[in-house]
Amino acid sequence: MQYPEPIAKLIEGFMKLPGIGPKTASRLAFFVLDMKEDDVLDFAKALVNAKRNLTYCSNCHHITDIDPCRICEDQSRDKSVVCVVQDAKDVIAMEKMKEYRGLYHVLHGAISPMDGIGPEDIKIPELLKRLQDDTIQEVIIATNPTIEGEATAMYMSRLIKPTGIKVTRIAHGLPVGGDLEYADEVTLSRAIEGRREL
Ligand SMILES: [Zn+2]
Repeated sequence: MQYPEPIAKLIEGFMKLPGIGPKTASRLAFFVLDMKEDDVLDFAKALVNAKRNLTYCSNCHHITDIDPCRICEDQSRDKSVVCVVQDAKDVIAMEKMKEYRGLYHVLHGAISPMDGIGPEDIKIPELLKRLQDDTIQEVIIATNPTIEGEATAMYMSRLIKPTGIKVTRIAHGLPVGGDLEYADEVTLSRAIEGRREL
């Protein structure tokens, strides 16, 4: 059976989201049809606003609605430590833990020669630049425990160590091949505590 055009478009839209197949997409689309019009409007506005009003912090490259972001601007945070992560989602996972009080640097990916992604394609040059003023004394590398994440960690450590800045890697309480964002708070907190110097 062919869906009427408007609902077919809605299903198509949902199917572009990760992990949503045709069945779930059509279930969601029909759910939207049953929603109150105001709720649908609010939801649609939230989608557009998130896309339009969010930008990246020019300092740490985390998603933000103000630049520099609230974390970089927070005077109560320890500016001598920076935790390097692959994605903005990792910052959110770390912040949920509420124990880490340093700053962040979001790489937006990892080095992956197979996919043609080199150090210059992610925010590594920007990190090195940040390290030039003497504020940062420790770099905690929290890239994912995958081949790409490890290669990125090694690469950064080789560049940073000669500058005399302490470089640490979070402990492997994290499942190998797992993403930081899926780690539970206890695992994440232990991973930070048990970090070792590279
Ligand atoms: Zn920032």
